[in-house]
Amino acid sequence: MDYHERVHKVLRRIKNAEQNSPFHENIKLIAVSKMVTSTQIAELYKLGCTAFGENKIQSLDEKCKELYTLSIEWHFIGRLQTNKINRLIELNPALIHSCDSLELALEINKRVKERRLDVLLQINSAREDTKAGVLPESALKTYEEILKNCPKLNLKGVMSIGAHTEDISVIQKSFETTREIYERVMSLGAKYCSMGMSGDFELAIKCGANIIRLGSVLFK
Ligand SMILES: *Cc1c(COP(=O)(O)O)cnc(C)c1O
Repeated sequence: MDYHERVHKVLRRIKNAEQNSPFHENIKLIAVSKMVTSTQIAELYKLGCTAFGENKIQSLDEKCKELYTLSIEWHFIGRLQTNKINRLIELNPALIHSCDSLELALEINKRVKERRLDVLLQINSAREDTKAGVLPESALKTYEEILKNCPKLNLKGVMSIGAHTEDISVIQKSFETTREIYERVMSLGAKYCSMGMSGDFELAIKCGANIIRLGSVLFK
């Protein structure tokens, strides 16, 4: 299958899920390009995908530079080590999805110079040891603390990775948990609920995602 067919098939699936979701959100698609080259990103860009996500600072840096002539909106979705924060800020990403603690938010806040930086709070909604993020019960408090203590950050919502299991009801539960937190922080200015990947994006949309992050279904 070529990219054209592949992308249009995915867009149709998104549209469908959107129409069948009780939430009526406008879904924003982030093409996760961590597995592919700049050439492949440029091909998808030509087909109308303009937002891309990377999970490593090094690759984000290289791809930003190689593709600087395209008006790509870059998203950072990976674990962020303190010693790489300055480099990430220099790359001026559109949105950092993976701010996973108050401590990290404070560290980013300390280093931002001019423009405020858009970030999401990552929630470990399935309470998995292997995953980053704040636990659901502390999410609201952490969200408020970041708003209060990080004036250089625009906290814009929440992000989560669906439960790592074959059990659909458990995945669904993890999305519902994230959506509930999102709804509680909407009155604090939250706009984005980033959840759903190649294997579970339709379920995520049904549970109220408005940003989905797709890699393999687009590129493989
Ligand atoms: C890799 C990755 C994705 C995309 O995963 P696919 O299953 O390939 O769609 C989405 N979000 C995060 C945080 C990722 O690391």
